[in-house]
Amino acid sequence: MKCQIHRRSTCRLCGSARIREFLSFERMPFTDEFVRPDRLGAEFLGDLQIYWCEDCRSSQTQHDVEVSDYYRDYRYTVSDSPFAQRFMRRLAEESFRRFGLQSGDRVLEIGSGDGHQLARFKELGARVLGFEPSADLTRAARATGVETIQTLFNCEGVEQIPADMRPAQVVLLTYTFDHLPEPRPFLELVRQVLDPQRGVLLIEVHDLARIVERREICLFEHEHSIYLTALTMKRLLEGAGFRLLGEDLLPDAERRGNSLLIAACPAGATVHPSTFTPRPADIALESWPTYEAFGDDVRRGIAKLRAHLQSGRAQGRTFAGYGAGGRGVMTLAMAGIDSSDIAYLCDQNTSFHGLHTPSSHIPVVAPEHVHSHPVDEIIVFSYAYLEEIRARLRPFAGRFVSILDLM
Ligand SMILES: [Zn+2]
Repeated sequence: MKCQIHRRSTCRLCGSARIREFLSFERMPFTDEFVRPDRLGAEFLGDLQIYWCEDCRSSQTQHDVEVSDYYRDYRYTVSDSPFAQRFMRRLAEESFRRFGLQSGDRVLEIGSGDGHQLARFKELGARVLGFEPSADLTRAARATGVETIQTLFNCEGVEQIPADMRPAQVVLLTYTFDHLPEPRPFLELVRQVLDPQRGVLLIEVHDLARIVERREICLFEHEHSIYLTALTMKRLLEGAGFRLLGEDLLPDAERRGNSLLIAACPAGATVHPSTFTPRPADIALESWPTYEAFGDDVRRGIAKLRAHLQSGRAQGRTFAGYGAGGRGVMTLAMAGIDSSDIAYLCDQNTSFHGLHTPSSHIPVVAPEHVHSHPVDEIIVFSYAYLEEIRARLRPFAGRFVSILDLM
């Protein structure tokens, strides 16, 4: 895939030129651009650096990848998982309860996917409207009765909102906000469509504090332009005319692993009380030494993984991987691992089989491949499922190692 890259030299959020790099990876792919064997090398690869702004203390990339084709074909949807279904139901219920929503109130979702989240609000009596750039997902949403505009949320998109859907009492974004190249003008636009008195903005992003704590480095990717903590989010929102209400709408156990779910309202709205108290991890990420230490820690982890494979291979040991999700793809690319280190990568998802991972060019195969092509050790990238995977691959008797123990 061919993509245009635009470089920046100042902070996306505050315009400051005082930005410092803390992570740098060469030739990084998109997490899901798997490659046919006859197309190896045709995938997008670009250097990925992550910076910290000394002024607004946010983290971000300094390049924009022009990915309009990518999003048009974007079919990723999580609504099949029971956990995700429960999350969507609970988010709608708690929004009604906490913010006093009433039947007939208007809910706009930006990046509304197949419409499952909005359908939960609709069931509770809200009038709903989605913004979704993918044609397939827009069709899927409309088929379930969720009115959706197939467009990005920009000035032209906002003009397409029917008069009876303004102002909105809720504007919602789940895992969309951290993809935005220009969050500030985006927030200005949100404020224009939000009810100035009762309006609530709900934003779910990957929490940088948790990414750092759990070393989820696979989340550093071209698709994510900004990496926020509750405190940097608060600063950003306040600069754009909002007031932070809290990050406790749903308990941890009901959200995905790295989720930061922020609620905010227009600064002038008086109906909603704030419940926000920053955590120590958020405060630590307000200063440079935390980033410097994190960068060193990541580089040490990658060196340790490479050393493990090198010494193993020197002793004649063979390796495979398990898990072709983002964690596997990005870790392999970050560590510069290829098919001479890891013979193949197992995954249950049949649509990946016969393809190669981007950048590392490791063939993706069905899990049963280990029986015909045994190896000494399987590195499990989807480590949360290690015991399930071990059981699934019986009678394979090689060693299983979690990627967490190797980095
Ligand atoms: Zn800044």
